[in-house]
Amino acid sequence: MDQKIWLSSPHMGESEFNFVKEAFDTNWIAPLGPNVDGFEKDIAGFLGNGVHVAALSSGTAALHLALILLGVKQGDEVLCQSMTFSASANPIVYQGATPVFVDSEEETWNMSPVFLEAAIQDRIKKGSKPKAIIVVHLYGMPADMDSIMEVADRYEIPVIEDAAEALGSTYKGRPAGTFGAMSILSFNGNKIITTSGGGALVSANEDWIKQARFLATQARDAAPHYQHSHIGYNYRMSNVCAGIGRGQMEVLPLRVQQRRRNFELYGEAFRFLPEVRLQEEPNQDYFSNRWLSTLLIDDLKDANVSRETIRLALESRNIESRPLWKPMHLQPVFAGAPFYGDGTCERLFEKGLCLPSGSNLPETDISKVIHILKDCLSLPVTA
Ligand SMILES: *Cc1c(COP(=O)(O)O)cnc(C)c1O
Repeated sequence: MDQKIWLSSPHMGESEFNFVKEAFDTNWIAPLGPNVDGFEKDIAGFLGNGVHVAALSSGTAALHLALILLGVKQGDEVLCQSMTFSASANPIVYQGATPVFVDSEEETWNMSPVFLEAAIQDRIKKGSKPKAIIVVHLYGMPADMDSIMEVADRYEIPVIEDAAEALGSTYKGRPAGTFGAMSILSFNGNKIITTSGGGALVSANEDWIKQARFLATQARDAAPHYQHSHIGYNYRMSNVCAGIGRGQMEVLPLRVQQRRRNFELYGEAFRFLPEVRLQEEPNQDYFSNRWLSTLLIDDLKDANVSRETIRLALESRNIESRPLWKPMHLQPVFAGAPFYGDGTCERLFEKGLCLPSGSNLPETDISKVIHILKDCLSLPVTA
């Protein structure tokens, strides 16, 4: 059996272990400590734009706290990009609110500002103005933030950026995760950097970040005994995990470079084929961290070759690839939730494939993937 080629595997640098060792040596194993503070400062420094950061147990927890801080509650509606991972939408339901899903645009595969406005207008007409907008930067590609923010501001609805996949991406030179009222990051095992599991809430509003830290540590009032005036959560990041995160922040720019190199190699192989479309940056305003290299396979001359035959061909050689995110409005668990769009994200889902994209992939592995893809597409294979 060929050695497994993963979609996206953890990639440690050199100093992660030293930060973790320091946590052990100083017995800071708790969900607070110098690594947590240091990691928060590192992220805030990287993102700039006056943001503050709360390091949490996951990106999902961060999104849940963002909705709580915006006052989303039972019976409210929250607009959410349909094409995304379920963790973008689940916290809406944790709050007893209803997700209203919005289609993608062709250019970025992210939330369409046109359908966003159509959804807002229709929900208002039906008597319920949405409480928040969750926009996602899929696979690292920034959404069209000028247009999204313009619509959101006009209707005075706060934006939460789900930047779980987009740490290191920029839009018009400004980091993804610094546009909305709040944003979330994820450090799960397969993301561009990882703490083995973790996330962060980001906002320029320091009060929100302080409140998030308070709620994430069981909402203890200032008293010598345990006293509570709010429902709390156990959502803080541990000092051990944050140690890994501090080491990972040192290599983040390098990881972006390495993942962008993967995309370039795939691009050189497939960019000029009519059957293949890559998730290209629409113009100079967009800079993707290329968390995952993705492509669409369409209009094949051989009708027997589909996205799925290619995925299975890769699998038979022990290579992991994956269809794009299945839209949330097509998920059984969200059946019946409103959806606004023309089916763009459904078409992307049918044709799209995520290719091995780890920052630690040797070039020979990428060549192997390219070779198999060309074989499937009955294209001449050149070196
Ligand atoms: C990974 C991911 C999340 C969730 O982050 P966790 O840390 O795994 O909870 C949310 N949204 C998107 C788009 C993601 O890719």
